[in-house]
Amino acid sequence: MKVIFKDYERKDYFKKELILYKEILLQILNQRGLNMNLENLKSKHFELVQVKDGIYAAIAKEGGGAIGNAGFVDLGDQTIVFDTFNTQQAAIDLKHIAESITNRSVDWVINSHWHGDHIRGNQVYKDSKIISSVETRVKMLESHPERIRKQKEDIKGLISYIKSLEERNLKEKDLSLENQINFLKEIETSLHTLELVLPNFTFKEEFTFYGTKKTAKLFTFGGGHSNCDSFLYIPEDKTVFMGDLLFVNFHPSFFLESNPLEWKKILEKLAKFEIEKVIPGHGVVGTKREILTLIRYFEDILELSTLKDVIEEIELPKVYESWSHPEIFQTNLKMLKTSFQLK
Ligand SMILES: [Zn+2]
Repeated sequence: MKVIFKDYERKDYFKKELILYKEILLQILNQRGLNMNLENLKSKHFELVQVKDGIYAAIAKEGGGAIGNAGFVDLGDQTIVFDTFNTQQAAIDLKHIAESITNRSVDWVINSHWHGDHIRGNQVYKDSKIISSVETRVKMLESHPERIRKQKEDIKGLISYIKSLEERNLKEKDLSLENQINFLKEIETSLHTLELVLPNFTFKEEFTFYGTKKTAKLFTFGGGHSNCDSFLYIPEDKTVFMGDLLFVNFHPSFFLESNPLEWKKILEKLAKFEIEKVIPGHGVVGTKREILTLIRYFEDILELSTLKDVIEEIELPKVYESWSHPEIFQTNLKMLKTSFQLK
């Protein structure tokens, strides 16, 4: 169809065409950039996994400076990082990757709970808003300054311990020993400049982030694994960052502060959410099934702990045989027998 333009209309038409071509070109370049980034943006501390559009999990690698998992969400106009790993080195890598993919700086950082492998990278995000539950912040302030001070005082001790392990490794050549050496070396590197950075925002039960593309809801149902555990739910993607409320193919570690009954109750509440993908604090990305499996694990271990008096006689059920760190099963049983008031 031939269209006759008046001069000014013609000019306008070409201008619009030019803008359109420019946009298409930018989209192609951005897409190529994104693909290149995803291939090239790698870290020795974690593996980056795209869980959904704009949702990424950073799954800790053995022997790195991450220990716990982390991840980030692109809300459209804001970026949230969930947890900051065990060292600044790992945290810097995730910050760099998040900023390269989203093309903007990180706005929010969440600390799911107070344990070191989820908060010790906080100093990398001094320019962002850091948020945790009230209880998590209190516990961080209570526990970490003294711990960090002691560890810094004993850097020489740590270095000589690493040397002794390296000598042992020369004779034995063992992968788990090698991983332990590398993990301790990351701690040593971090201790020279490590400082505790506390959350500058807290919330009580629920906090909502409204982005232009996504909404994310931060919740706590109280403590189960630690004194207070938070999780981040992205309803439209049916995805949850679980922190250490979830371990996948990995025995969940009980601590003195843990409350296995409460932990199980929290998981049961969470199982009622619409969920497709779960990012655990330890282990690989899973589905809702992994929440149900962990509930079953709690049922099994609670029952087994009452059946026999001698813990060593209790066998690890076959379904959990392939899980990492099987020694934790016995430790958990011991704790159930001796440390917890299970009512
Ligand atoms: Zn933890």
